[in-house]
Amino acid sequence: MMDKSFLDELRQGVRAVCSDFPDTYWRELDERRAYPEEFVNALTSAGFLGALIPEEYGGSGLGITESSVILEEINRSGGNAGACHAQMYTMGTLLRHGSDQQKQKYLPKIADGSVRLQAFGVTEPNTGTDTTQLKTTAVRKGDKYIVNGQKVFISRTEYSDLMLLLVRTTALDQVKKRTEGLSVLLVDLREVVGNGLTIKPIRTMMNHATTELFIEDMEVPVENLIGEEGRGFSYILDGMNAERILIAAECIGDGRWFIERAVNYANQRVVFKRPIGQNQGIQFPIARSHVNIEAADLMRFRAAELYDAGKKCGAEANMAKLLAADASWEAANVTLQTHGGFGFAEEYDVERKFRETKLYQVAPISTNLILSYVAEHILGLPRSY
Ligand SMILES: Cc1cc2nc3c(=O)[nH]c(=O)nc-3n(C[C@H](O)[C@H](O)[C@H](O)COP(=O)(O)OP(=O)(O)OC[C@H]3O[C@@H](n4cnc5c(N)ncnc54)[C@H](O)[C@@H]3O)c2cc1C
Repeated sequence: MMDKSFLDELRQGVRAVCSDFPDTYWRELDERRAYPEEFVNALTSAGFLGALIPEEYGGSGLGITESSVILEEINRSGGNAGACHAQMYTMGTLLRHGSDQQKQKYLPKIADGSVRLQAFGVTEPNTGTDTTQLKTTAVRKGDKYIVNGQKVFISRTEYSDLMLLLVRTTALDQVKKRTEGLSVLLVDLREVVGNGLTIKPIRTMMNHATTELFIEDMEVPVENLIGEEGRGFSYILDGMNAERILIAAECIGDGRWFIERAVNYANQRVVFKRPIGQNQGIQFPIARSHVNIEAADLMRFRAAELYDAGKKCGAEANMAKLLAADASWEAANVTLQTHGGFGFAEEYDVERKFRETKLYQVAPISTNLILSYVAEHILGLPRSY
């Protein structure tokens, strides 16, 4: 059961860290497309990025509810949790499917910040959302896997020590189901960059440190296989509900930031001798966005509660992500419109947050694919692809 006063305290703690990183900090990084090193270090030292790591490994052993509040508050403050959110959702794969030896080796270091697990390599240029078709292969040779292939839009690889990588270990024509034969490897980036792995940054419309990976005869020790060979797809799917809930929370944070900015501006900006917010044409869209953010928030907490209770939450987690991403995008549009020409000026930060929140219509899963999931798995309609 959710402890509201603990969540309030947690919010205050995250806000205190974020208050040292004002709009100007994020704006300047955005201009340079630079990674928020100081912010991520501050968040790690305060213990927030180790929220999901059990106490026995040096983390705080909190649930997805609390973790989602941490990410929400970062975006609510005007920052961007995208710089570090993967550390929370990739951790689940290591935590649930890693061996005791792997957990003992990595989790305490991730918790104390001496090692970062910020990268998660799934997407490929030629197969996109059709994950089981991915072409990157790992072939076992003695005590090593030899990995070859290419990945695209893999974020934070330049700022991470470790990466979870999804590869095919058994060819498609040799498995009964296309979801079989995929495996998850924990790649130590410090050992392979320039030695089998080439990282090429991709400049995108927002500051997201995403990259393309070219993998050529990259060696990964067999001891870095997570769980069983061939079962990697189910491990990745397992982590997806957590990812959906955490991203939904970031969108809620964005939405609340937008609504606050829109309300303040609409109250202050005087045109035709009255605040623009006095016009219903201005206030109704803001009010509607607020309603949609609050509704999405209920679904997010419903999904988080089920997740933390160990119950099935695929439907709720997906619906929360869709509702929250749509609501934050609506709020972004409304806020930009409310600001008129000033919405386009960098110094108001609205255009920056507008670009940042748009991502969640597409990644880590696109809105269409969530609708397909709901149609097929919840409503029982025929599979469409
Ligand atoms: C900034 C950024 C950061 C990212 N970070 C990571 C990361 O760290 N790790 C990682 O693995 N990936 C990452 N991604 C990749 C992201 O997860 C993919 O872009 C996303 O899953 C969509 O895949 P795609 O781009 O190949 O689109 P495609 O699969 O080519 O789809 C293109 C469009 O067609 C639609 N579509 C496709 N199939 C169907 C269908 N059957 N029915 C209806 N519509 C369909 C999609 O909804 C989408 O709108 C990132 C992407 C971006 C832009």
